[in-house]
Amino acid sequence: MIKDNYDDVLQKVENAAKASGRNPSDVTLIAVSKTKPISDLMEAYEAGARDFGENHVQELMEKIPALPKDIRWHMIGHLQRNKVKYIVGKVFLIHSVDSLRLAEEINKESLKAGVVSNILLEVNVAGEESKWGGSLDETIDLVKEVSKLPGVCVKGLMTVAPYTDDPETNREYFRKLKELSVDIDAQNIDNISMGVLSMGMTGDYEVAVSEGATYVRVGTGIFGARNYNI
Ligand SMILES: *Cc1c(COP(=O)(O)O)cnc(C)c1O
Repeated sequence: MIKDNYDDVLQKVENAAKASGRNPSDVTLIAVSKTKPISDLMEAYEAGARDFGENHVQELMEKIPALPKDIRWHMIGHLQRNKVKYIVGKVFLIHSVDSLRLAEEINKESLKAGVVSNILLEVNVAGEESKWGGSLDETIDLVKEVSKLPGVCVKGLMTVAPYTDDPETNREYFRKLKELSVDIDAQNIDNISMGVLSMGMTGDYEVAVSEGATYVRVGTGIFGARNYNI
């Protein structure tokens, strides 16, 4: 079941890339496995998934040692500063950096561990109260500050678009995130690249791909609905 879902989502990602004149290999599907048991992750792994996304540090710490070593782990959920030390050096990319204080903490722990952490800046493009991330304007200021930190390397931007039944309504937000990344890139700031755009979830990933996503984060579409009460 998970294999069929995974194959189906991957095919749709490829089709959406081709339909918008993009190279399918420029888009990576992240299997978002939060709340799901190891056996489900292994099924996705067997189907070919190598990029997994998790939201909680505790859950990441349990899953990383229990799964194959060639998995690239993505921290996609809100990250508290006091938990940073547990994941630095263990995750491939932190998608959810939304403040200078958090970036500074990642910098500090990375220098301590002798690594450089790759991060994305999270942008609340739609300005929703309930969402993390800075506004478009705040992100430009944040980028400049974070560029001075030697222990982190900004690879691009991430957004969580509004929940919607009609993915087309999120197209404008994906487009704005892409525009922001182009604007920032044009400023040629040291230590900053904008090659990565993490956007699109189960309900809207095809639209996100057509607007330039390089990572789509799909949970429900691969693993089925989540039960948060277990
Ligand atoms: C849970 C989550 C996803 C996956 O959501 P689905 O709608 O199940 O695909 C993607 N990104 C973030 C940040 C999430 O928290």
